[in-house]
Amino acid sequence: MLPPPARVFVAGHRGLVGSAVARRLTDRGYHVLTRTRAELDLRDGPATEAYLRGTRPDAVVLAAARVGGILANSTRPVEFLEDNLRIQLSVISAAHGAGVRRLLFLGSSCIYPRLAPQPIREEALLTGALEPTNEAYAIAKIAGIVQLRAYRRQFGASFVAAMPTNLYGPGDTFDPHTAHVLPALVRRFHEAVQERRQVVEVWGSGTPRREFLHVDDLAVACETLLRRYDGDEVVNVGCGQDLTIRELAELVAEAVGYRGRITFDPSRPDGTPRKLLDVSRMTALGWAPEIPLRQGIVDTYRWWLTTGTG
Ligand code: GDP
Repeated sequence: MLPPPARVFVAGHRGLVGSAVARRLTDRGYHVLTRTRAELDLRDGPATEAYLRGTRPDAVVLAAARVGGILANSTRPVEFLEDNLRIQLSVISAAHGAGVRRLLFLGSSCIYPRLAPQPIREEALLTGALEPTNEAYAIAKIAGIVQLRAYRRQFGASFVAAMPTNLYGPGDTFDPHTAHVLPALVRRFHEAVQERRQVVEVWGSGTPRREFLHVDDLAVACETLLRRYDGDEVVNVGCGQDLTIRELAELVAEAVGYRGRITFDPSRPDGTPRKLLDVSRMTALGWAPEIPLRQGIVDTYRWWLTTGTG
C-alpha cells in the first residue's frame, strides 16, 4: 500500500516513538520529512495544513503527543487533554485538507477500560469506565480514534490507528517527574549505585502488571501497518507478555548492577491493576516483536548513560 521511497511526514520525530519510526522508515528507504516544534507548532491547524500542502507527503505518522507517567498524568490533566486534542484535531484535519492519502495515528493501551478482560482485545474500546489517573489522556486518544473513523466514514480516508502497550527504549524521558516506570527505575537504581545506597523505593504496591514493548519493535509494526493495513478497527501492538512492577524492578536492578534492598511506597498510586494487550490482529499481519525485555533494558540503560539528557 505504501512502498518505499514514499514520502512520510513523521510528526513528533524527536520523541520516543517518532524518533524510532523515523529511523526505521529511513533505514527501509522511505523519504522521511520532519519539522521541529520551533519550525511548526502542530497545534496550529492552518500552519500544519500549509506545511502539508507545500510538501505533499504520501503519508503522515502522528507520533506527536504530550505523554508522561502516572504522576504527570494525574497532576497535569489539563495539558494531557488539551494539547493532545489540539495536536490531533490540527494534524488529522490538515492531512485530509492537504489530500494526504494515508495517516497512522499512535494511541495507547490506556484507552481501554480499567477492568477490561485480559488480554485486552480491540473490541473492549468504550465498554467500561477508564482508569482515573490517566483519564484525560485516554479521552483525548479516544477522540483521535473517533476522528479517524469519522474521516473514513465521511470521506473514505485511509487513516488507521495503532494502540501500543507501555513503550520504552532509546529516546525515552528519564526525568523522575514525567518518566514512565521503566526509565524512572533505571535512573533511580543507577543513582543508588553511584551513591552507594542500599535501599531503593519503588512507587505503589509492586503488584500491578504491565507489558513492555521496545520502541524499535513498535517502529517495525508501524511500517507494517502503513504497508498492509487499511481498516476502521484500531490495532493493538504489544509483546504479549506482562510482569509485575516488582519483577520489573528486579530486572532493572540487575541490569544496572544494584544489589541492595527494594521497598515499596503504597502511598503512591498503582494505576490500572493489569494492562496486557491481545496482539493477534497485529501478528496476523506478519509482525512479531524481537527484542527481549532484559536485553532491551540493558540497551536503554546504555543509551541513557551515553546519549540521554532527560
Ligand atoms: P501507567 O502504566 O499508565 O500506570 O504508567 P507508569 O509507567 O507511570 O506506571 C506504571 C506502574 O509503575 C504504576 O503502578 C506505578 O505506580 C509504578 N511505578 C513504580 N515506581 C515508579 C516510578 O518511579 N515512576 C513511575 N512513573 N511509575 C512507577
